[in-house]
Amino acid sequence: MAISEKLKLQNMINGEFVDPVDGGSEEVINPSTGEVIAHSPLSGVEDVNRAVAAAKAAFEGGWATTTPAERSNRLLALADAIEENGEELTDLESADAGKPRQAFIDEELATTADHIRFFASAARNLEGKAAMEYVEGHTSFIRREPVGPVAQITPWNYPLMMAIWKLGPALATGNTLVLKPAESTPVTTLHTLARICAEIFPPGVTNFVGGHGDPAGSTLVTHPDIKMVSLTGSVGTGKWIARAAADSLKRVHLELGGKAPVIIFDDADVAQTAELLSAYCLFNAGQDCTAACRILVGPKIYDDFVAALAEEAGGYKVGDLDDPDTALGPVNSARQLEHVTGFLDRKPEHAQFATGGGKADRPGFYVQPTVVADLNQDDEMVQNEIFGPVMTVQRFTDEEEAVRWANGTRYGLASSVWTRDIGRAMRVTNALRFGAVWINDHIIMAPEMPHGGYGESGYGKDMSMYSLEDYTQIKHVMINLE
Ligand code: NAD
Repeated sequence: MAISEKLKLQNMINGEFVDPVDGGSEEVINPSTGEVIAHSPLSGVEDVNRAVAAAKAAFEGGWATTTPAERSNRLLALADAIEENGEELTDLESADAGKPRQAFIDEELATTADHIRFFASAARNLEGKAAMEYVEGHTSFIRREPVGPVAQITPWNYPLMMAIWKLGPALATGNTLVLKPAESTPVTTLHTLARICAEIFPPGVTNFVGGHGDPAGSTLVTHPDIKMVSLTGSVGTGKWIARAAADSLKRVHLELGGKAPVIIFDDADVAQTAELLSAYCLFNAGQDCTAACRILVGPKIYDDFVAALAEEAGGYKVGDLDDPDTALGPVNSARQLEHVTGFLDRKPEHAQFATGGGKADRPGFYVQPTVVADLNQDDEMVQNEIFGPVMTVQRFTDEEEAVRWANGTRYGLASSVWTRDIGRAMRVTNALRFGAVWINDHIIMAPEMPHGGYGESGYGKDMSMYSLEDYTQIKHVMINLE
């Protein structure tokens, strides 16, 4: 099934689908063709205020005190509904975010439902300290309580999955929410997820508004009745939100991308590592904050590795999203295409394109799979997030230099080390300042395990019990036994 007609998206506030009060909307573009596929609401201050009022009323009206079992059962129903609507979600996410259909089905759809089921089970498993007489004659215990209505702001690289990572732990712990999808990818959230949520959750528990960072996002972030803000997006937006939230001391939860270093020592298997890392960088056209994009290679295997990586990456089929053999789709927008090709156009003289190097020769926002070798540590391609199908490669001389370069950007989300020497693997793992380290692998995630950064990659964890803890506040209750 393809999208046969343009969709008219609306906000979902208090269980009802409504247009913005001033009727504003804008076109949503399919990045693989440049065609308009939908019209999305442009929410203003009044729309956001209504959504927050609904979230506040639902929080105070009973959702915060529902039992974990009730919240868990509703999340399980959400997971079932995601699967039942799988075909529609695949059509919409593929057209809106530029994802090859088969890759979305294989790698994202089932994972999304599984992650919701994790949050459903986690809802019933929150823990704290044992009730105890820590002071003689007094019993103490801990209550974990929801924070309040939360604002959730999602990015355009995994629109559906990021919405689930946000609403799962928030709802599991008794919060209500207003979620704003990214302006370039609102379709699965506003069309399908909002409809499913309206059927499953009481009015006001989940609210969805379309629109830009300003005014929709900024109004949400600064609203006095919003008690916590969670963002997945850019470092600049994260800093703006942290500053804006400081005025009211709102809790802030930020996942701001990365520049994952991949340290490959001379004892690694060149062919196998090159094959795996191509996949781990080029998936989702490299628009992944954990993508294996910054490769540091030992001196003895460097030349062979660059050649193997160029051959693997250069073999990636760039093509139509409906073609099951397509391995590489477009980047998400004209703006992102300009961002990625800007880096390539500014390649320093001392670096070489081992493969690729520019826009792919076809309609839509496609970039060639690209390997840039011989970069220096202070080059902008090494220091800044490109967020496209581009791998940078640097030659290190020894372990100390590899670790120093790996740690030598402002980001700290994910990293990996490749070697058969277990002592070296553990030494390097301990020295890496990142929220995740893989040994002889990269990018694999489990919902039981946390995802979140060090440094300017942000703070707060997605997935795992830690994400539920982030959406709760702790109350100490002490009873005088006399
Ligand atoms: P962005 O931070 O501007 O957008 C992310 C989300 O934040 C969107 O929903 C946007 O509407 C919202 N937003 C923007 N300004 C806001 C504000 N003042 N208040 C509230 N919400 C606001 O990101 P972008 O400009 O679309 O992408 C730029 C770069 O960010 C990318 O090239 C990439 O490097 C990085 N990025 C990282 C991730 C990630 O997974 N961490 C995802 C997307 C983009």
